[in-house]
Amino acid sequence: MKTVDCDYFVVGSGMAGLMSALHLASYGRVLVVTKGRMRDCNTNFAQGGICCVMDPADTFDKHARDTMIAGAWLGKTEVVHEICEHAPEGIRDLIDCGVRFAKKRDGSWDLTREGGHSARRIFHAGDITGEKCEAAMIRRVRDVKAIDVRENAIVIDLVMTRRIGLGGPNRCVGAYVLDKMSGEIYAVRSPNTILATGGCGKVYLYTCNPDTATGDGIALAWRAGAKIENMEFIQFHPTCLYHPLARRFLISEAVRGEGAVLVDRHGREFMKKYDPRGSLAPRDIVARSIDSEMKRTGDDCVYLDIRKKGRAYLMTRFPNIYQKCMEFGIDMAKDLIPVVPAAHYTCGGIQATSDGATSIPGLSAVGECASTGLHGANRLASNSLMEALVCARLTAARLGPHPEAFMRGKVPEIPAWKTGAAVPPDEAVLVAHMWDEIRRLMWDYVGIVRTNKRLARAARRLKTLRREVRDYYFRYLVTPDTLELRNLAVCAELIVRCAQRRRESRGLHYTLDYPKQSKKPRETVLDGYRG
Ligand SMILES: Cc1cc2nc3c(=O)[nH]c(=O)nc-3n(C[C@H](O)[C@H](O)[C@H](O)COP(=O)(O)OP(=O)(O)OC[C@H]3O[C@@H](n4cnc5c(N)ncnc54)[C@H](O)[C@@H]3O)c2cc1C
Repeated sequence: MKTVDCDYFVVGSGMAGLMSALHLASYGRVLVVTKGRMRDCNTNFAQGGICCVMDPADTFDKHARDTMIAGAWLGKTEVVHEICEHAPEGIRDLIDCGVRFAKKRDGSWDLTREGGHSARRIFHAGDITGEKCEAAMIRRVRDVKAIDVRENAIVIDLVMTRRIGLGGPNRCVGAYVLDKMSGEIYAVRSPNTILATGGCGKVYLYTCNPDTATGDGIALAWRAGAKIENMEFIQFHPTCLYHPLARRFLISEAVRGEGAVLVDRHGREFMKKYDPRGSLAPRDIVARSIDSEMKRTGDDCVYLDIRKKGRAYLMTRFPNIYQKCMEFGIDMAKDLIPVVPAAHYTCGGIQATSDGATSIPGLSAVGECASTGLHGANRLASNSLMEALVCARLTAARLGPHPEAFMRGKVPEIPAWKTGAAVPPDEAVLVAHMWDEIRRLMWDYVGIVRTNKRLARAARRLKTLRREVRDYYFRYLVTPDTLELRNLAVCAELIVRCAQRRRESRGLHYTLDYPKQSKKPRETVLDGYRG
């Protein structure tokens, strides 16, 4: 079996992965692996923008307070302040990569505002901010000699010293990787593995996440024994375009920030019934209100009304959304836009510090796969790209100058991947069926509004499904589909276990059995798998 050595092994090519790689390249050799093309990631789909206090009338304290309020006071105050305060450096890093954020005619930044923010503080590049950032980072990464990128390479499992029979404290020394094109499995050996694998939106039937969001990093870390926390907090984006041909197209929150209101099919505004902030209430409240409105009326969707803004404005401010809606026969300047909630963001994940340290030596986690304490029980809009940017920078500052980075020679030999008695898969239909079953049951039983009964039912069903997935995994040679299915099943189970432990309603976790918020905010921490 081939072994590839590097000083820093970065898994993922979104904002967290590419920014980590760019910073770490000053300190040593970086290998980035990503399971699709580089741009196949959530980052590429981000529309709204990136938070950063820049307006003289705005302050870091205000941003931190908005973040804590959105997170229902479960966020870690010191982490929230630290990340908000480092945001300007992160924005500068992107500008250095060549990102051109929108400016006003007078040359000042065109900062926008989204739900839950008390000030205008969102940097944006039209309504395709993520795409512009991703393209700029990819260009920069390609220019840096110290960074080697392997696309279509999916990490199977992390390599832990204890699993390969070495004594001493258990640490991560790399991973096994499947080359999706050739089918070859090789090892990557590195003293520093950085997971930047994004969230697990695909665990739900309806999601605006791309196909890469199968929670691989969270499942890899869990199997390696890392602590996982707060998985019950899944953010549902309230306004995904509802159209049979529109797959995961979001109507960004910036549209409500610029004046759109939510209405029913008769054009009647309904949000004020649920929250005094109306259509500008935080995401969880808006998603729950829409869910409740749809259940009450039996309608398949609700609508966004931004007709008052006029065509010229809409075409300039939201060119991408405007054009996409037009493709589906919806004219934002004349028509109501049909929308439904969809799984959007994973607030919890691998327990990590703001500089990426996890509970496992040698393993770091950055971006959406990590749970740093910034989001608490709910993410404030546009705080996630900011977190990925800042934490990539802080992680590199921790790992870079550290002597461990240069202990490549001391990293042990990694034994060859064993296929055992596995045979080529001949029943792909089973994989497809298990995928569908997990996603449907998570949508039906572990969605926006939860109950003890539904969670118990989900837990029972998932236990059986996990056994079936495990049997399949060991019986057949690995394929990208089976790897993702295995990880999806782990994430589903972690979400249910965390949800069952939380006996209150807080932020994104809303249960009819415990509708009140408890006095003392507490994390839900699961100790890593010890199988
Ligand atoms: C439609 C949409 C709109 C959004 N809008 C905004 C916004 O306006 N502002 C904001 O702040 N946030 C927004 N978000 C959220 C934000 O985009 C994500 O939180 C952020 O991009 C996560 O970055 P990341 O680098 O952590 O993960 P990602 O960008 O998802 O990257 C993960 C990478 O890991 C790779 N990977 C995963 N598993 C493996 C494996 N096993 N082996 C190899 N590679 C692997 C993937 O292929 C991918 O390259 C939006 C998200 C969506 C879906």
